[in-house]
Amino acid sequence: MSNVNFFAGVDLGATKINVTLLGDDRVFRIAEMLETPALVEQGPDVTLKQMETAIRLAADVSGVVMSSIKAVGLDTPGPASTDGVISAQGSTNFGNTGWARFPIRDAFQQTVGLPTVYANDGNAAALHCHREKFGQDSKFSSLTAAVGTGLGGGIVVNGQLVVGATGFAAEVGHVVLPTHGLLEPDQPNPKCNCGRAGDAEAWASLTGIRNNLLPYYLEKYPDHPLWQVEEGGERAKQVRSFGESGDEMARRIFKKQAVALGVLFDIAMQFLDLDAFFVGGGVMQTNLEFREWFLRTIREHLPLRDEQRGVSVEVAPDGDMAGARGAARLALESWRAG
Ligand SMILES: [Zn+2]
Repeated sequence: MSNVNFFAGVDLGATKINVTLLGDDRVFRIAEMLETPALVEQGPDVTLKQMETAIRLAADVSGVVMSSIKAVGLDTPGPASTDGVISAQGSTNFGNTGWARFPIRDAFQQTVGLPTVYANDGNAAALHCHREKFGQDSKFSSLTAAVGTGLGGGIVVNGQLVVGATGFAAEVGHVVLPTHGLLEPDQPNPKCNCGRAGDAEAWASLTGIRNNLLPYYLEKYPDHPLWQVEEGGERAKQVRSFGESGDEMARRIFKKQAVALGVLFDIAMQFLDLDAFFVGGGVMQTNLEFREWFLRTIREHLPLRDEQRGVSVEVAPDGDMAGARGAARLALESWRAG
């Protein structure tokens, strides 16, 4: 073990820091979720210290000495530039004005005293999913979509993360989808927080359920028990457990989401001719029957050419750990590349 170099992956979310350690033998030393609280609403200074503490904790619990950690991979929710400067509008999930234009990668590199690389959380998770299935082979391409509060994701083409000119590539949630086959005749075109109407996140996210799908479908079920739950976030969250138990209205909502993802994946296929799609987020933290039904429904709405029959649509590996693990992989890969 003494000859192994280690790489920390730090996934900073709105309320929690998830941290992992990866050896240059490509074995993760943290088997389960290792989470510590994040006080992002108190601003960058407090949060940077919490992130550093999280790495020390990870080293402690896995018996790794700090001096064997060579680099850090950091991921946060976007929007942010490729070198980790949070956008001028601040981060959607970090409720403190100190985050606007904050160079989190540079600042954390200073705090922790180690070379630090940055990715947005969707890209970090996408890199991890891709490497888990395809390893380092540069032959393969994939898209990862995480259906959570929003619809995040990332794209790997020929073994390389696609980040784009300014870092905003693979914003899969904000691709506008054709309404044909998706929008019901009496249904308003769903709106997204980004200002677009009918983009993938407006359909396939918890926010999409809350703002668009649930208000439309619940009206058709006047006796539904969800009328007893206060309107808003809590009502939207409960749609998932109704869906898992086979409730008709909830299944109609999730079917719409699956169809929307099929349409999105079809667009991606035409651009990129991918090998695999990984679906993650809360929608996959469900029972086996629901997950399989959801993935099958996506697949049924993803028209493929005969030559593309081998394309897989599967559950993203490692759940909420994918971001931190992808960030650690990025640190290792950047370090190897010099
Ligand atoms: Zn959008």
